[in-house]
Amino acid sequence: MDKSDLPKSEKEWKKILSDKEFLILRRKGTEPAFTGKYLNQKEKGIYVCAGCGNTLFSSETKFDSGSGWPSFWDVVSEKNILLKPDNSLGVSRVEVLCSLCGGHLGHVFDDGPKPTGKRFCINSVSLNFKKN
Ligand code: FE
Repeated sequence: MDKSDLPKSEKEWKKILSDKEFLILRRKGTEPAFTGKYLNQKEKGIYVCAGCGNTLFSSETKFDSGSGWPSFWDVVSEKNILLKPDNSLGVSRVEVLCSLCGGHLGHVFDDGPKPTGKRFCINSVSLNFKKN
């Protein structure tokens, strides 16, 4: 999807996304821990943005963090995400957004495994899986 093809307003997003997707991607919601469809997904493939199809994560960097959300230690390309300070809920965190559609994906933490030490903690609802 090209940026020009993306919905222009939240009203348009509401039309093309499911209620769950809208709540998380456009309203920065969080799926309950241990409920996401990709939590235990171990097949080889690519995870793309559920809003716009932007390539985000590879199964090669997915790991079991025990957090209850799909976790990755790297992104496919740093150009495909945006990082934003998030001080909601009285906690200082870093929000991860899709750089193409601005959809909320999750948060990134510094307690991940080597080689990056990063833990991208991502909502399953924000992703679509494409088998290799
Ligand atoms: Fe997107």
